[in-house]
Amino acid sequence: MNSGKDGTYDLVVVGGGPAGATLATFVAMQGHRVLIVDRDTFPRYQIGESLLPSTINGICVMLGVEEEIAKAGFTKKLGGSFRWGKKEEPWSFYFGVTQKNRKNPAFAYQVERMKFDWILLQNAIKKGVELRTGCNVTRPIKEGDRFVGVEYVDENNQVREVRARYVADASGNRGMFGAAIGERLYSKFFKNWALFGYYEGGKRFPPPYEGNILSAAFGEGWFWYIPVTPTLTSVGAVFSPPEDKKRPVDGELEAAMNGFIAKCPIIADMLSNARRVTEGVYGKLRMRQDWSYTQSRFWDKGLVLVGDAACFVDPLLSQGVHLATYSALLAARSINSCLAGSVDEQRAFEEFELRYRREYGLFYDYLTSLYDMNFDQESFFWAARSTLRTEERGNEAFIRLLAGQASADPAINVAQDFFDARQGSGAALEQVMNPTPGADAAMTTVGAKNITGLLPELDREAQGLQMLAIFGGDRPAEKPFRPGGLITSKDGMYWQEPTA
Ligand code: FAD
Repeated sequence: MNSGKDGTYDLVVVGGGPAGATLATFVAMQGHRVLIVDRDTFPRYQIGESLLPSTINGICVMLGVEEEIAKAGFTKKLGGSFRWGKKEEPWSFYFGVTQKNRKNPAFAYQVERMKFDWILLQNAIKKGVELRTGCNVTRPIKEGDRFVGVEYVDENNQVREVRARYVADASGNRGMFGAAIGERLYSKFFKNWALFGYYEGGKRFPPPYEGNILSAAFGEGWFWYIPVTPTLTSVGAVFSPPEDKKRPVDGELEAAMNGFIAKCPIIADMLSNARRVTEGVYGKLRMRQDWSYTQSRFWDKGLVLVGDAACFVDPLLSQGVHLATYSALLAARSINSCLAGSVDEQRAFEEFELRYRREYGLFYDYLTSLYDMNFDQESFFWAARSTLRTEERGNEAFIRLLAGQASADPAINVAQDFFDARQGSGAALEQVMNPTPGADAAMTTVGAKNITGLLPELDREAQGLQMLAIFGGDRPAEKPFRPGGLITSKDGMYWQEPTA
């Protein structure tokens, strides 16, 4: 094998998933030279198909990729449905019905990750990022106490080196560089495994819930049921591993999956006319385990960990891509500020780590409550209020958390303002304008009644936001998270000192 030397970059990113693509794009958008190296070739399969509004209507708008996403024909997700806790009937929630959430267009998408991740990467390339695929990164390069690049084996089996002022590990669950700066701490509470596959012809809830994710508890754990396209459904069982930790081998997976389905009546019913896909990329039953962890450190001089490379926890609330893209935005602010020389490196990266850990911690905390299977609908809301330490009414804290808006990041709100101004007031409003007859009778609907009460206010607000979008304007000043902390710049791309 030969070695080669590549040029020097401002940032080299290991991994082109949502975290890597988002970070690379936000840094390249400031005129910096950015390279992504991924061992796979795209489009490539990945699990994690149910997204949150904060990603679609916040980060994707800031990335300037919302039109491509809208054109991709993904399944619209207006909320979620749970068969959980003491009650037998499932209940649903809308993203768009709370006071604080009303600026956020009330939907996300269920996506084929092969398509979604490739759209983000193509957008990164359009914004100036270089992409090298089929290149396996093997180790970080460190000089003195600073990380200065990575070594990788390229598609021709050549060992190459690339140097950069900053290195980002966005290698997902594999977490290539975490061990170089600390250790991976596994959750003592979440130790589940998942077994999942794809089905054609699964049932759909009546409109407008046909795009909802269904999460259904059963004796040994819970299922996700994600309507990825009108006919294709992603179905996964999350369960406690057996005591001997013996993992089923390939030939045993089908029987294990059918066994779980038989124990969960609502999933058995939804799949009663479906067949499991057995060919192509969706043709395998797959397993994942050991996914709930956090790295002991998220950064060191010259190196930052984003997305799953830093931390992940149980997928019940579909927060993985939200955490990946939001952490990428936070890291981009730190890198952009340091490259501009406007903020001290230590303070910039501490701000990143603090905010990422807080966001992750909110989901972790709330998930711990949800695993109490005796919960009913109201206790879900109470637990969300306790997690967010707020006194919000009814289901507001719950929906804010599940929409990925708990931190109320000002930059994401700006993106939403612009989106709202162009799109009206989102799907919640659509539902009021064109209600689907009989839809609510099919399930218990959390808060759907509230939509009507919001109408006049939504209308006034949409007009106000349109003026803001056209003529510009200031949003209220952000307060730092802690004494001595930094705040977000007006364009959302840097940290800055708090204004007096
Ligand atoms: P990834 O998407 O994993 O991307 C990492 C990239 O790094 C890959 O392209 C990989 O090829 C590359 N890479 C790895 N090693 C190397 C190397 N050595 N050299 C070069 N490149 C490398 N999230 C949701 O939002 N919704 C869901 O419904 C959901 N369901 C889930 C269900 C399960 C069972 C699990 C385990 C996770 C789920 N997730 C879900 C989480 C979601 O999959 C992840 O959070 C998300 O993909 C993280 O994005 P990322 O960019 O950090 O990493």
